[in-house]
Amino acid sequence: MIRINLSTLVHAKIGQHQSIILNLDAVSTTELDLRYLKGELHFTRVRYGVLVEGLLETEVQTECTRCLTPFYEPVTIELGDIVSLPGAELTPECPVRISEDGWADLLPLIREYVWISIPVNAICSPECKGICQECGGNLNLGMCTCDNSLPIDPRWDALRMLLDSSDN
Ligand SMILES: [Zn+2]
Ligand SMILES: [Zn+2]
Repeated sequence: MIRINLSTLVHAKIGQHQSIILNLDAVSTTELDLRYLKGELHFTRVRYGVLVEGLLETEVQTECTRCLTPFYEPVTIELGDIVSLPGAELTPECPVRISEDGWADLLPLIREYVWISIPVNAICSPECKGICQECGGNLNLGMCTCDNSLPIDPRWDALRMLLDSSDN
């Protein structure tokens, strides 16, 4: 949960606003694992709720598309959404509502933004060697004994010679 107290804004005039600095060490749920979450959030009272805006930085755990190992991908999210007032009906467009005691859990909102920010072809490192097509071993942990994982392919040697000669 990422609980924010918005009780003063619930009872405030339209246009009134407040800001907070968010600096969380770790946010972990069954669906989301963030190494940290930090940034500044601005809240403005609007007619039907409270507008939440801000830029947040985080690192989210995802799986490398090459070697299938979990790793943390840095992402920046730009929030711009309305949380509903106490008693309002929840909709897919407006998944967060301020509770009767003035608190709002922003996690469902932030989760949506983080999910769409994860690149579809996320890789743990530009140097990731991936997994062996034969045995499924992670080639970052060392070469397996399959033929196709030999570190130097003779075809690359030929290419390297071409590159070397073009330098001269
Ligand atoms: Zn990888
Ligand atoms: Zn192998």
